Amino acid sequence: MSSIFSNEIDIVKAPTSKINTVDFENITFGNVFTDHMLLCDYKEGTWQKPIIKPYEPFMIDPSAKVFHYGQAIFEGMKAYKDENEDVWMFRPDENFNRFNHSATRLAMPEVPEEIFIGGLKTILDLERDWVKKGKGNTLYIRPFMIAIGSGVIAQPSTQYRFMIILSPARSYYSGEVKVIIAEHYSRAANGGIGAAKAAGNYSAQFYPTKLANEKGFQQIIWTDDATHTKLEEAGTMNVFFRINDTLYTAPTGERILDGVTRKSLIDIAKRDGINVEIRSVLVAELIEAAKNGSLKEIFGAGTAAVVNPIVGFSYQDNYYELPKIDDSFALQLKEKLTNIQYKLAEDTFGWTEKV
Ligand SMILES: *Cc1c(COP(=O)(O)O)cnc(C)c1O
Repeated sequence: MSSIFSNEIDIVKAPTSKINTVDFENITFGNVFTDHMLLCDYKEGTWQKPIIKPYEPFMIDPSAKVFHYGQAIFEGMKAYKDENEDVWMFRPDENFNRFNHSATRLAMPEVPEEIFIGGLKTILDLERDWVKKGKGNTLYIRPFMIAIGSGVIAQPSTQYRFMIILSPARSYYSGEVKVIIAEHYSRAANGGIGAAKAAGNYSAQFYPTKLANEKGFQQIIWTDDATHTKLEEAGTMNVFFRINDTLYTAPTGERILDGVTRKSLIDIAKRDGINVEIRSVLVAELIEAAKNGSLKEIFGAGTAAVVNPIVGFSYQDNYYELPKIDDSFALQLKEKLTNIQYKLAEDTFGWTEKV
């Protein structure tokens, strides 16, 4: 496949690789990047020819719209290597479609499939040595788009840059995660940009998350902005609650990002006979379930950590600890999903795509 696309992409190879300077065993998430990056500019109403070239900084005008008005979107995906040294992507069309939904919401141009998917396959093919074998090793993929047109007038840019950068990553271990349920701040509002993977959604979370960190909590469980009674997302992840043996997660929509991990876990859970209910869980229900012992698990779901079990939560200054259980749905589902991603289990859903 990649050969079809690479005819349409200029490739300038790095003279030397820095791969031998990287300590893959002790890598911290998101700090090391591979030898190359993909770059494609949009101007005068059309996408230009993409180029893959050595990873390096670049210059843009200080008045570029991205700096002033935050026209910036991104995706987060991963590539995996199986025991036969083949490299695999996981549901890349989902990320491609979501990227273009984000673009539309921020008045940015959609990126054509040949550039997003074709570019991804070409750069992954070139960087395949950076994808290490063995469960837990991945290559994190960060496609993004920024407005590079100059001028501080507050209107959408006419020039954009789409890029893909790649960062080798070990499985993400976040330690014990305790969360605070949001009573004042919100991640998203109806009519806003919460359903887009927009940079601004992240900057808006940093301050409330910092306040939570100062109180000894790692993350916030976001509630609906209007009433703060419905549980919506955990930090930058979708959130699942297990009450007795039923798994609950809120429906996606304007305030809740449509996560690929979330929908994959739902499908696996349903396939394997776990009762899943897609509905908002109320804060009051959660407190009640915590008090009567029916609350078994809370976990976040997203590409970076896959599944992030939560050990306890705070609401109105009361702390509720979750029980330690042996048959964790979070860990079972994580195992099943990662087995599909690493080609250790049969991909009955057809989610994996070879590079
Ligand atoms: C990216 C993201 C997720 C998780 O999406 P995945 O496709 O599973 O990685 C969940 N919530 C928010 C707010 C996000 O930005």
